[in-house]
Amino acid sequence: MNGVFALRYAYRTASQRGEHFYGHVPDCCGDYPIDYFTWVVIDDDRTIVIDAGFTPQTALERGSRPYLATPLELLERLGRRAEDVTDLIVTHLHYDHTGFIDAYPGARVWLQRAELDFWTSPLADRGSFAHLKHEADIAGLRALTGSERLVLLEGDAAIDERVSAHLVGGHTPGMQVVRVETDEGPIVLASDASHFYANLEGDHPYGILYDLGDMYRAFDRLTELAGERGVVVPGHDPRVRERHDAIDAEGRIVRLRAR
Ligand SMILES: [Zn+2]
Repeated sequence: MNGVFALRYAYRTASQRGEHFYGHVPDCCGDYPIDYFTWVVIDDDRTIVIDAGFTPQTALERGSRPYLATPLELLERLGRRAEDVTDLIVTHLHYDHTGFIDAYPGARVWLQRAELDFWTSPLADRGSFAHLKHEADIAGLRALTGSERLVLLEGDAAIDERVSAHLVGGHTPGMQVVRVETDEGPIVLASDASHFYANLEGDHPYGILYDLGDMYRAFDRLTELAGERGVVVPGHDPRVRERHDAIDAEGRIVRLRAR
């Protein structure tokens, strides 16, 4: 099925408002559920996957993350197999975005060089950073370095005629977002440049970040990339299922539209 889709593979309801906004948060301890997504752009001759989720094993290890289906199982429901994936754009290297990087044998992997440099540096082994990485996933990427399968970007890049990657930083040093030009207008996949609509729309950065100034600049860039005709799709917001069209009963596959 051609289109742009969000694939909801897991979720967490044991999650509080204070986790998701930087600084002091009034009503810090109210429930604030989070969804885990990957995304895919399907057209006649390309299948471009954005981000690689986490595995069921990682869900078990971290706990309280009910798992719905792997991103590959959801992709198959849209008629594409892992072997059909031509490109995998990895927005950043937190554990919930790297679990299936090696699952697409024919895909070219697009990542910002600054992101790989950071997560293979000693700083990434320190407390709060180390908690956010999955070591085996980073090692797998490292093994791809120097091969034609891994493209290390240094700024914005066109993936094909309609899909482009844009370096924004902020959440992580090499965080990138993805813009998809559709017939109806642009769809900007923010990933964790804005976890929730309330981050971008309330101008309130997420609680986990690398550079606060760049978080704010990323908000401006997202708005600019969407323009007047487009939409920004946040990386973890259950409301994506309300603002767009869930096409299965369980809300695991959501067709995204610019409107
Ligand atoms: Zn994330």
